[in-house]
Amino acid sequence: MSMRPIPFDNSYARLPGKFHVFQDPQPVAAPELLVINLGLADELGIDPDWIRSEAAVRTFAGNELPEGAEPLAQAYAGHQFGGWVPQLGDGRAVLLGEVIDRTGQRRDIQLKGAGRTPWSRGGDGRAWLGPVLREYLVSEAMHALGIPTTRALAAVATGETVQREQAYPGAVLTRVAASHLRVGTFQYFAARGDHEAIRTLVDHAIKRHYAQAETALDLLNAVVARQAELIAGWMSVGFIHGVMNTDNMAISGETIDYGPCAFMDAYNPETVFSSIDRMGRYAWRNQPEIAVWNLAQFATCLLPLMGERDKAIEQATEAVHRFPTHYARAWLERFARKLGIERPREGDAQLVEAFLKGLADTGADFTNSFRDLASRDVPENLSGWKVDWLARLADEVDWEERIRRANPAYIARNHRVEAMIQAAVTGDLSLFRELSDILDTPFNDHPGKEGYRAPPAPGEEVLQTFCGT
Ligand code: AMP
Ligand code: MG
Repeated sequence: MSMRPIPFDNSYARLPGKFHVFQDPQPVAAPELLVINLGLADELGIDPDWIRSEAAVRTFAGNELPEGAEPLAQAYAGHQFGGWVPQLGDGRAVLLGEVIDRTGQRRDIQLKGAGRTPWSRGGDGRAWLGPVLREYLVSEAMHALGIPTTRALAAVATGETVQREQAYPGAVLTRVAASHLRVGTFQYFAARGDHEAIRTLVDHAIKRHYAQAETALDLLNAVVARQAELIAGWMSVGFIHGVMNTDNMAISGETIDYGPCAFMDAYNPETVFSSIDRMGRYAWRNQPEIAVWNLAQFATCLLPLMGERDKAIEQATEAVHRFPTHYARAWLERFARKLGIERPREGDAQLVEAFLKGLADTGADFTNSFRDLASRDVPENLSGWKVDWLARLADEVDWEERIRRANPAYIARNHRVEAMIQAAVTGDLSLFRELSDILDTPFNDHPGKEGYRAPPAPGEEVLQTFCGT
């Protein structure tokens, strides 16, 4: 066993004091391992003996600090459902530190549900088993789908109870992220008129995520492009984030903060799951526009670094307005591939739109309708469309395989996730393991597991997901 089981190399902790509060995680009563991601641990260069030890379980519970950890809570602000909140910050998350992974990328290792911090406000600083396993499962599923996301390294039970609508078993999630810099991190300092801090953040973000960028405007352009790619990825798998507040949008372009997120079953662009999203602000179809709204907030934060005001506003506006172009290209690439088309051309966008309209008209299952194209099966109302589609595919080779690689057979269907959580609360992790195993390779057929492909039967639908995390 090496001296340093986790090869920490911390940079955020070196930023000035106003960026964070040094805060140790609060120990829990009885740490017990629920799940550990050995593949990810290896990628991060964590000691393979240590990761299998009780010391690792104690660490991921917050009961022990490995050498080199410098636990801290980060400062940020944010717009929540459009309303400005000048101070949020990590209220129940503690960054242990950073590592340089095997590919040379700097990654954050953070405990979520690690106890109160100065930013907890009225909260208990804790998380319960349900949302912890949901985030673990769904974030890893997104990764397997090829969509940029934070990762899950471990989940441990705390042996303590967390009070929500009722008492639940407590848990801690170990999250790995390219960074936890959010739009809201920039907003926190912009709202305080602290241009020096924004300069520091811009430099930090460029170094970590966009080495080719030199100026604040370069950074903005890069973040806009990355977010357009990300949202197109979400749309292509029917993912609904659920809480696209500016504090939940990462500068790195990773999906972050899995709260009331869910995948759509029947295709309906208005789909929204989150119980707190009464106006449907974060419905599936609104996600690109909300991203633009959030990016406009980000751009506003950068203006003081962009020189003469009128010129800066013009350039920042132009940058944000490039989102639709990036997005349209990324969207068409993804959706054309879902139809079996390698390189989209004129007319393909209409072909995709016509297919989606056919699904919307009958409320056909989003995921399965695309997957079934590999065997040339289309919903009945799309038989006319099928003629055009097959004519288009005459120019493509190996399109069946392309469809199978672009369209998952399995997604983390909400009713399955809920059933998994209900079982886990009783101490039964078998559904978690079974689901994890399938969602690890979602493009494979998994003979015998076809039941997991089925949309919820009437009465099985989970219409709402809760933020009571
Ligand atoms: P979220 O909805 O998870 O993005 O969280 C929004 C804000 O509320 C963040 O500042 C969190 O740190 C904080 N927060 C959420 N849950 C808790 C909790 N149980 N205790 C303390 N702070 C929390
Ligand atoms: Mg959040």
